[in-house]
This record gives sequence, structure tokens and C-alpha cells, in this order.
Amino acid sequence: MSSTPHAWPERLSEAAAWRRAQGLWRERRTFQAGLVDFAGNDYLGLAGDPRLAEAQAAGARAFGAGAGASHLVSGHLEVHEALERRLAELVGRPRALLFSTGYMANLGTLQALCDNHTQVFQDRLNHASLLDGAGLAGARSRRFHHRDLDDLDRLLGRAPGDSARLVVSDGVFSMDGDVANIGGLAEISARHGAWLMIDDAHGLGVLGAHGDGCVGRAHGVDRVPILVGTLGKALGTGGAFVAGSEALIEHLIQFSRPYVYTTAQPPGVAAATLAALDILAAEPERRERLRDTIAYFRHEAALLNLPLADSFTPIQPLILGDSQRVLHWADQLRRTGLLVGAIRPPTVPHGEARLRITLRATHGRESLDHLLENLARLQGEGTN
Ligand SMILES: *Cc1c(COP(=O)(O)O)cnc(C)c1O
Repeated sequence: MSSTPHAWPERLSEAAAWRRAQGLWRERRTFQAGLVDFAGNDYLGLAGDPRLAEAQAAGARAFGAGAGASHLVSGHLEVHEALERRLAELVGRPRALLFSTGYMANLGTLQALCDNHTQVFQDRLNHASLLDGAGLAGARSRRFHHRDLDDLDRLLGRAPGDSARLVVSDGVFSMDGDVANIGGLAEISARHGAWLMIDDAHGLGVLGAHGDGCVGRAHGVDRVPILVGTLGKALGTGGAFVAGSEALIEHLIQFSRPYVYTTAQPPGVAAATLAALDILAAEPERRERLRDTIAYFRHEAALLNLPLADSFTPIQPLILGDSQRVLHWADQLRRTGLLVGAIRPPTVPHGEARLRITLRATHGRESLDHLLENLARLQGEGTN
């Protein structure tokens, strides 16, 4: 950093130069109509569904464009209450609590549950918000090897016995698309007297017999006491929820600062989410179409020898390793009308830069073939 530590302009330009030099500069581009989106998380194609837009407008007309206050003041409206009940039902929990975003749900849950004596055990590839939540609580996170139950067992065995323990994992890993072994995590956590928290941001709406996610009704509140789901992915709207026991939810209402000190979700968004839940229940064929799309893409990609990671979820990472190569591929794809994620460190470990290709129920065969042809062409270019 600069020799004059308080010179802000120099501090900023040095940080920018450092990031550019590493090839890690991030650029926002306004999404252009006409691009086929293989980067977003709208797995069921609900974000653009006119029924959600209608429900959102109706919700705004009935309750206002904004909630006007936090949940504990006067912002907790009937539509929020109804949505919390529906979400709790979907995942088979006694109660659910709405948050404005998934990031805040994770911050708010970990902050309210942990302190500097809590032992937190996290999968190495957990979402940034889970690590940040433990940090907000002043709790130290021990990170176990990705999906490695033996490593978790070992770490828990070594932990001092006199402090509360919490095991935390993504359900579906957001950059890899693989799924946590929920049953295994639940068994080990119970054996060591730890609570288990699963963030099922990418599983909700996609996995499970009812779209109830990789935890859902299959793993009850006794096995997974803390379940987080987000609404901005497969459900197509925005916001998040924590589901669990009556006692857990009351504790969050009392102690979760990111819950207490923020304006409630706009009521139209809650109304649109209720419409999304109706569609999720009434149109299981969307999930079937998504599964067919994933199977087709993986089958064709295997014939082309593309280095796809092992994932049966809509997140299909193509591991290229080098950041520059990832940027080149993403740029070339964009020129042919295809938008994919170019994921580089620090979001993923060094040497594991990748294209993050996401599939959705509404991708047609033609778009998939167009993507596959272009991936084959880029692979044929060699190492560039
Ligand atoms: C996207 C995501 C979040 C954050 O959710 P937002 O609603 O976008 O803030 C949290 N956890 C995981 C695993 C995610 O993928």
C-alpha cells in the first residue's frame, strides 16, 4: 500500500492495479436482450413468467410498493405471514422466517446463534455469506475438506467439549453443482452433539420430490435443525428464508440483527413468490424438463470430451484452470450470443477457473446445440 496510508485515492488505485495485474478484474456488463442466458440461476424459467409479474403488481396494489418498515415495527404484512407459512410447509418445518436476501439470512442466522466460543465447522467450498456470518459473530470457522465426512468427523472429535458446535454446509455447491451428503452430515453432527445448518439456495425448487430441495421433507428438523432457502434462484423472485423449530425462529426474531434492522421485503415480491410456489406445485413438468435438459447437455458434452465437472444439478462447471483462458472462452461465446459465467479466484481456488454454465427448464434444444457447437470449436482451438 501507499507510503501515505491515509491517501484514499492512492489506496484505491493501488488496489485496482493489483487486481488488474492478477487478471482478476471484474466487469459488469448490462445484460443485452438477445443473449441466451447460461449464467443465471433462474432454473425453472420463472423470473420472466407473466403470472409472477401479475401477482407482483397485484401485491403492490394491495399492500404498497414497499413494506414501509421492518418486520418488528409495522412492515410485517399479511402477505409475508402467508408466505412464511407456505415456505415452512414446502420444506416440512414448523416455522419459517423471511429475510431480504440469502446473504442476509446467512449473516443473520450465524450472528444470532454464534459467539466467539462457538465452534463452527464449514465445508471449504461454502458460500461466502456463510463464512462472513461466522465472522460477524466473532466465531472462528474450521473448514473441512470438500464433502469429506471423515475430515469433519476428525475435526469435531478434536474440538473442546465445553462449547456449542455448529456444522454448516451448502446443499448444492454454487460453483461446482455437486450436492452435500445430507444424511452423512446429519449423522456425524448428531453424534458430536452439533447442530447442522444447510444452505439450500440452489436445491430449492429443483431437487426433492416436491421441489423442496436436497433437505426438504426427506430430512426433518430433527436431522437438519437449520435450513436456509433463497427465493432469487429457482423461485424467480428475491429474498430468502430460514426454516426450523419454533424456538429457532423466535431466537432469530429476538437476536438476529440483519433481521431486526432492515426493511421488510416489498410485499409485491412476497406475492410473486406465492405465485411461484403455486406454479412449483402445479407444474412438476418444469422440473422434469430441467432434468431432461441436464441429461441431454451432459450426454452431448461427454461425446465432445469437454472437461465437465461431475454434477447432476443445473450448475455445470467446465473447469479450464487458467483465468485468461476462461475469459477468452466466455468472450468468444458472448460474440455468438451465449452468456456463461467466467468464474475465477477468489470465488474459486487458484488453478480452478471455470466456465459456470447453468441450465434451465426453458432452454430449447437449439440453444443447447448452439452452445455445444461453440464449446467444441473453442476446445479445438487448443490451449488459447
Ligand atoms: C446465491 C447464494 C446465496 C445468497 O443469496 P441471495 O439471495 O442472492 O443473497 C447464499 N448462499 C448460496 C449457497 C448461494 O448460492
